[in-house]
Amino acid sequence: MAVNGYGTIGKRVADAVAKQPDLELVGVAKTRPSFDARRAVDLGYPLYLAADAVRSDFDAAGLQVAGTVKEMVARADVVVDATPDKVGAENRALYDAANVRAVFQGGEKASVADVSFNALGNYAAARGKRRVRVVSCNTTGISRAVAVLLPRWGVERWDVTLVRRAADPAESKKGPINGIVPSLHIPSHHGPDVRTIFPDLEISTVAVVVPTTLMHVHVNHVRLRSAPASAAELVAALRSTPRFRVFAPWEQANGTPQVMEFARGRGLGLDDVPENVVWEDGVSLEGRDAYFFQAIHQESVTVPENVDAIRAMFDLAPDGPASIARTDRALGLSRA
Ligand code: NAD
Repeated sequence: MAVNGYGTIGKRVADAVAKQPDLELVGVAKTRPSFDARRAVDLGYPLYLAADAVRSDFDAAGLQVAGTVKEMVARADVVVDATPDKVGAENRALYDAANVRAVFQGGEKASVADVSFNALGNYAAARGKRRVRVVSCNTTGISRAVAVLLPRWGVERWDVTLVRRAADPAESKKGPINGIVPSLHIPSHHGPDVRTIFPDLEISTVAVVVPTTLMHVHVNHVRLRSAPASAAELVAALRSTPRFRVFAPWEQANGTPQVMEFARGRGLGLDDVPENVVWEDGVSLEGRDAYFFQAIHQESVTVPENVDAIRAMFDLAPDGPASIARTDRALGLSRA
């Protein structure tokens, strides 16, 4: 596979694919020389010229170039497009012309692909597909949680307040740096996006943007169809599901700063937390009404989903759980 657009998501997807025993990284395409381009070369990833990239700029920086993005695409069976929002749709013609499959990201409209994807939510729907869209970080986080609660207890209605990070850590020109900005459009786009995975789900989402770069936090209220015996049963379901990390009270991970400190310490690479983070103490139950918080590391949560999307497209695993287990073992996320 190849990665077109080597930024926040693209560099992580390249690392993740390079670690999979059954996938091979053909290379990554970049528009400009940068420390990230140097990183790709240092890691041994063949570096290709994307879009309007100028070869002499890379030569001047001493970065060896393997060819153009067109050549990279021709050498791959599938391209993960991790370019900025809406650029993926523009690149579709490039992939179609080369007759290669493509995985797009959540910044694209759902119509860019044959199907929108979340590994726990609808793995089978991407089987054999030529174009798949991995939904955004927030939609991924919500969809994973739906995949845990819906089959066990049924969902009458799901309400989420999303407390969104203002920018990624490297985006120094974005804000707000002091303020809380509500998304005045209700529902926010996240609810309809979750329905690309769970078409029949009654879900409503509202969002506010806050001055942090670390993670998003979701405040969930779910009216279930049948009541779990206790909040502990809910916690156990979340804890036993891959791609969830439930913090016990004794771990003292009180908020996103501590979660990120945990991430720095565990050394997965790039300080990532690809799991949904849930605080055990914050899970509560009143009859059929479940409440819980979850934190979503926007930079990494969709990365394992890109790997599973490729497996589904090429039918490389018997089912979703098998692909998830293989991906997570290779990434060091497996608890088994
Ligand atoms: P980014 O800006 O960090 O990276 C995009 C990269 O693509 C940059 O290196 C840019 O130079 C390069 N690029 C620009 N035009 C290009 C072109 N025509 N061809 C090749 N490369 C080009 O963006 P990102 O945050 O990685 O986002 C990528 C996609 O992933 C978007 O759809 C976004 O919505 C989605 N996404 C982002 C996040 C997040 O929080 N960062 C989370 C989930 C999904």
